[in-house]
Amino acid sequence: MTAPLLMIPGPIEVSPAVQEAFCVPPPSHVSPKVIEAFGLALERMREVWGASAASQPFVVAGSGTIAMEMAVVNVVAPGQRAVVVDTGYFSARMAEMLRRRGAQVTMVGAPVGQAPALEEVEAALAAGGCKALFATHVDTSTGVRVDPEALAAAARRHGALSIFDGVCATAAEAFWMERWGADIYLTSSQKAIGLPAGLALMVASPEAMAARRELGAEVPMSVDFLEWLPIMTAYQERRPSYFSTPATNLILALAVSLGELLASRVGELTGMAACFERHRRAAAAMRQGWAAMGLELLPEGGLAASSLSAVCYPQGVGPELTREIAARGVIVAGGLYKGLQSTYFRVGHMGHTTTRPDDLRRTLEAIEGALIACGHPIEAGVAVAAFNAAPTW
Ligand SMILES: *Cc1c(COP(=O)(O)O)cnc(C)c1O
Repeated sequence: MTAPLLMIPGPIEVSPAVQEAFCVPPPSHVSPKVIEAFGLALERMREVWGASAASQPFVVAGSGTIAMEMAVVNVVAPGQRAVVVDTGYFSARMAEMLRRRGAQVTMVGAPVGQAPALEEVEAALAAGGCKALFATHVDTSTGVRVDPEALAAAARRHGALSIFDGVCATAAEAFWMERWGADIYLTSSQKAIGLPAGLALMVASPEAMAARRELGAEVPMSVDFLEWLPIMTAYQERRPSYFSTPATNLILALAVSLGELLASRVGELTGMAACFERHRRAAAAMRQGWAAMGLELLPEGGLAASSLSAVCYPQGVGPELTREIAARGVIVAGGLYKGLQSTYFRVGHMGHTTTRPDDLRRTLEAIEGALIACGHPIEAGVAVAAFNAAPTW
């Protein structure tokens, strides 16, 4: 039997070249191969993030949650004000981290499946004295995407830094850090970056680095920008260095996965523009499939992400559907938003599988077969036919 296809919003399927890169005996953190891969990965991160030469990438062993914590404690001191754009599960986590940091947190929310209007965010920023604006680029619990360009500009207008949790978005959704004036964009390795779990990744703007220097509060040592800065500088200059052991196998694979992202081509487009467009078209083709099966999405209209779909169960069908889908060789995820878990399921379509339309067809086929088995009245073949009618890439 072929291995099941992992179509959850992270961890995701990885490319053969990435797998080959990390499936080696553990190398030393000061081996020439790791030093070269680390330096290359830092250079490539700036390109993938659309960040300036003056920005600072960080690669630290950890998870998305650790990356979030690192961002919070390096730019916000106890007593300072922060505004959080609340679009679901992970925005709530960010707000809780800020509270534990001793920050005064203002949440700007919206009903499930929606994002707050820019004017409401502006009003919260205008209340004054706000150190930083936090937003989840794509909330993995709802599939809602915000507009980081508009939010970063709003933060700037009010003298606040802008920090984006890109854990379910980075490398799948358009993001141009320098052009948009964002200050921190963070992610982890197991989502659209296309590696196994184990790395916390982020790029900080010069303004974010200055904010750390002027923080006037202690930062926990293991996540302090200023502890890690000399390490990143050393690897960039291809010198060995040590503060805390990096995840060496993953560093080798990171250089490869970032290289693959930058080698993307779609029509006339190259690099990250092509990578974002490939995800946009893959998501649009998947949405054709959902519509053909009579399924609705949790996010409203234009807010649906490219990296995943949060799909509502149709009438008469519930969480048993995900088991029926798994029985057909495809793993999808259940609902995550508190109180609504049993009303929808989630399908990741980011990274390597977006280069393999056959994997996406196989996913739709499995879901269609499972729906029919659960009594949903549709005809076999409608989802793939609709997928095939969408623009290709
Ligand atoms: C997955 C995810 C996280 C948490 O990442 P972990 O690696 O599980 O800690 C945070 N934010 C978003 C948007 C995510 O999708």
